Amino acid sequence: MKQLIDYLNPLKLLGKRKYSFAFPLFCALIFAVILEIYAYLIANDPNSIGIAAISVFIALIIYFAFRDGIVGGFVVTLVTVGYYFYIMYTRRFQGDQLIAGIETTLVLGGIYLLVAFTIGWLKQTIDGLIESEANEKRRLQTIIQQLPVGIIITDNQGRVTQVNHLLEKMIGAKIPIGYTIGTDTLIVPSKYQQKVAVPADSPLAYSLRIGKPVVSKEFELRKDGKNMYLNVSAAPIHNKKGTIIAAASIISDITLQKEMELRKDDFIHMASHELKSPITSLNLYMDLLVRRLSKVVDAKSQKTLDSIRYQIQRLQELVSDLLDVSRLQSGKLSFHREYFRLDHMVEETVEELRELAKDQHLHYRNNKGALVYADKFRISQVLTNLITNAIKYSPSNTSIEITVENKGGWGTVSVKDHGIGIAQKQHKKIFDRLYQVTESNEKTFPGLGLGLYISKEIVTRHKGKIWVESEKGRGSTFYFSLPIRSNKSLEPQKQSLLTKKK
Ligand code: ADP
Repeated sequence: MKQLIDYLNPLKLLGKRKYSFAFPLFCALIFAVILEIYAYLIANDPNSIGIAAISVFIALIIYFAFRDGIVGGFVVTLVTVGYYFYIMYTRRFQGDQLIAGIETTLVLGGIYLLVAFTIGWLKQTIDGLIESEANEKRRLQTIIQQLPVGIIITDNQGRVTQVNHLLEKMIGAKIPIGYTIGTDTLIVPSKYQQKVAVPADSPLAYSLRIGKPVVSKEFELRKDGKNMYLNVSAAPIHNKKGTIIAAASIISDITLQKEMELRKDDFIHMASHELKSPITSLNLYMDLLVRRLSKVVDAKSQKTLDSIRYQIQRLQELVSDLLDVSRLQSGKLSFHREYFRLDHMVEETVEELRELAKDQHLHYRNNKGALVYADKFRISQVLTNLITNAIKYSPSNTSIEITVENKGGWGTVSVKDHGIGIAQKQHKKIFDRLYQVTESNEKTFPGLGLGLYISKEIVTRHKGKIWVESEKGRGSTFYFSLPIRSNKSLEPQKQSLLTKKK
């Protein structure tokens, strides 16, 4: 019964592009026969069906044009006109009645044809639209399924509307359509233990919440006793009015990459660790040699010895930077915090570096003392890095100004040079690991691009801030700030506490 109702329901056939010829013909003939039976056998008056014949057939034309398109409406119109002629013939219309009957049939036939064509054409156009939309959807689904990354698409509430098999394979769980990202919890087989993937952590849920994309967030899972790394990006999708209508997330398996990276980090750690001892010994022997030979060598040889010593020191600095980076990466860089005066530390560091900055003039200015609680050696390392950069990237005979300020709860150190400067677009990137500004027409400077990265990590791990103000060709000013512990502590009685602590 349901099948019969579905077969007769024109809405169920929308988009199917199936236009029957036989069924409308059969139904129209059946209705003509029923009307004839009614006229002759029930009403006993052959002329009693005039209005019924018009109403029934117009309804049939509309129905079949909507069900079977132009062909359906056309077939029923032909049967209708034929039946009207049959009525005129069997009821023996003559004279004026026959002429009026023929005229009416022709006029009605024309109107019926117009109705059949219009409705049929509309129906076929709707079919075409539905079909092309369905094709588009199928195409999109095929693309989503075959992409070599995991894909998940949700509505604006985070309810899943599409997900590809690769993603389900990656995370080892089926994500049902309608599952709400960020709220519902997935049932993950026991061989997968999700370490970080708490539902609320999901970049997709977060991007929906903030209305902005989230790029490259890393997640670590454990599968079959092994670590597995996923890189997840997500973005909300807006309509033309800017309202969020959906969200999409791309998930890639970066385990291989990650393992290579870890191996590379291990190698750097081991290599720099192994290099450290021979270089330290080399440095000591060199000092010894320079001292022993200082009285006997001529000026030329002395210069050569100085150059060797300088290169060994540079090597030592590079290896120590590499070691620091690998310690930072593995979370093994520990800080030995103590209370100290930032201004004192800056002054000491500037004095130590004066020797190095033979070609530049270092000026130190201090407004007010600032007490901080930090790793003095590491903070001095940050300042050394900023000053050596200022020396490296400035021409000879320029000045470098170093200041310490105590303002708004922050102790701020600044290093201002009059060197090559840094373009605005590089300001953030120079603090990234291994980043060096390279401009084709510019002189190249030695370095690994690690100093500012290490400095940023040291400062931020002390809850401080580091930034730069600079313009290309107009020098740079680097700043770093550390939270001030207490102004009172600068008073003499507190100083004793500091000494005790040391
Ligand atoms: P590097 O070992 O290359 O100096 P850093 O991390 O210390 O590495 O610096 C990163 C990059 O930032 C440098 O390659 C340089 O291009 C730029 N930079 C750093 N300090 C300055 C400065 N004072 N003036 C101009 N450019 C600088």
